[in-house]
Amino acid sequence: MAEETLKIFSFRRAGKERAGLCVGSQLFDLSWLLCEWPGTEDLELPDFPTVLHLIERGCFGREWLRELWRFACDGSLAESARLQEPVEFLPPITRPQKILCLGRNYAAHAQETGATVPEEPIFFAKAPSSLIGHEQPIRLPALSKRVDHEAELAFVIGKRAKGVPAEKAWDYVAGYTIVNDVTARDLQKADIDKARPWFRSKSFDTFCPCGPWIVPREEIPNPHSLNIELRVNGEVRQKANTADMIFKIPELVEYLSAHLTLEPGDIISTGTPEGISPLRPGDVVEVEIERIGVLRNPVAAESGPTAEAQPASHPKELG
Ligand code: MG
Repeated sequence: MAEETLKIFSFRRAGKERAGLCVGSQLFDLSWLLCEWPGTEDLELPDFPTVLHLIERGCFGREWLRELWRFACDGSLAESARLQEPVEFLPPITRPQKILCLGRNYAAHAQETGATVPEEPIFFAKAPSSLIGHEQPIRLPALSKRVDHEAELAFVIGKRAKGVPAEKAWDYVAGYTIVNDVTARDLQKADIDKARPWFRSKSFDTFCPCGPWIVPREEIPNPHSLNIELRVNGEVRQKANTADMIFKIPELVEYLSAHLTLEPGDIISTGTPEGISPLRPGDVVEVEIERIGVLRNPVAAESGPTAEAQPASHPKELG
């Protein structure tokens, strides 16, 4: 039987951000396990490291995680590290230096918005302050009359990248996660019409649901063959495969790193397929990507009550 995939997430416990480890259907306190593990002695990690600390120190690959997990199981520490209570998920990287997104990276989506298919990557930024985690509510701002979902595969940068050629790009990818690139479509259209940047329509608070976790790169040998689906209240709105992306991850790393320096923990979201549609208060939106999981968020008015979020400690409940 194949070994189970180990995934890393961020959560809050007693008011503090911590790193978590998902093994099969179980969630564990990774920050606590690391305090017990002699394998971190030379790494100068803080007492309770975050996911970003681990990525910055290169403590993220599949083999590193498996070695840690074997130690946890052999030393009977796993049971003590198991999270019993409902888990408050945070975005897997809570404070990335950058969130960069690809625009029009699926031909059918470019066509549905009336845009042409690009000849080179179109990228833009979302404010890191727009990040929220799994199960946290998306708030619809009063300034917009139409807010859309956008299901996207995202990758997380594992080490500093500047001028990286496509053939070396995989070395700079720590792993994969899910982003919902929530967009105030009416404001975006008004800005495009006036040749203004897209930034404000992409960067409202709560407009970047991300998670629930990061799957290490080695666990997904080909991220360009994954089914991607978005559901609103259980109804399928977007359904595609990452094989349809126009610019693939190696080209994106080359292109982006030719322009700017990518830092560990930066989140790069690779664009959405066709099927965008508006969100309304009371909706529950789920993005599912094969081999990664399900990112689920309720939708609420800017200051209204939130739909009943269901914190889950059991990944099967996460889908
Ligand atoms: Mg997008």
